[in-house]
Amino acid sequence: MGTRLGVMGGTFDPIHVGHLVTAEEALHQFGLDEVVFVPTGRPWMKEHEVVASPEDRYRMTEIGIAAEPRFSVSRIEVERGGQTYTVDTLRALRDADPDGELWFITGADAMLEIMEWKEPETLFDLARFIAATRPGYDVTRFQTHDAVSVMEIPALAISSTDIRARVREGRPIRFLVPQSVETYIVAEGLYR
Ligand code: ATP
Ligand code: MG
Repeated sequence: MGTRLGVMGGTFDPIHVGHLVTAEEALHQFGLDEVVFVPTGRPWMKEHEVVASPEDRYRMTEIGIAAEPRFSVSRIEVERGGQTYTVDTLRALRDADPDGELWFITGADAMLEIMEWKEPETLFDLARFIAATRPGYDVTRFQTHDAVSVMEIPALAISSTDIRARVREGRPIRFLVPQSVETYIVAEGLYR
């Protein structure tokens, strides 16, 4: 039987415990073998927002997931450069393991965006989707599509946007991100 691979896409600017809890819960609830985190190169929908370089976001993701051996990080989108698309990443992962099963893990906000894409069916042919609850978003509407499973996670009203604002304003980010990630942010002077 092929590997059941979870795929967690994101900007990870920076990675935070909301991402880690989501991936861990998906491992457990869907019996996945592994979860690969895929930091975006230059996300097309966030042109004006991303503030750390792809390389810094990759490094923070790498050290942020280190405690869980079933988590890994991929350079596929960082390396591709330019604008990156989920569909290309899923095709590449499928081609790397044609017998495997892909499970794309998203928060409710990202799932809403996917449903609004021009051809979400193309994505649904490549992977099953796991939509995690996220404070402020309604997940019940995803239940209607058979390629999408809804996953309840403990509500964490935490976002990378808030973490960047906290760093900028000198407020604490301790326990919102892994200790190693906080150390990296301070050492590299990110988000100041
Ligand atoms: P930003 O505020 O910069 O948009 P973010 O916190 O939303 O950052 P992303 O890198 O955009 O993080 O998200 C990557 C994935 O993780 C998305 O699918 C998103 O929905 C999900 N996610 C992020 N934070 C949470 C959370 N607190 N609970 C559930 N899912 C989350
Ligand atoms: Mg986001």
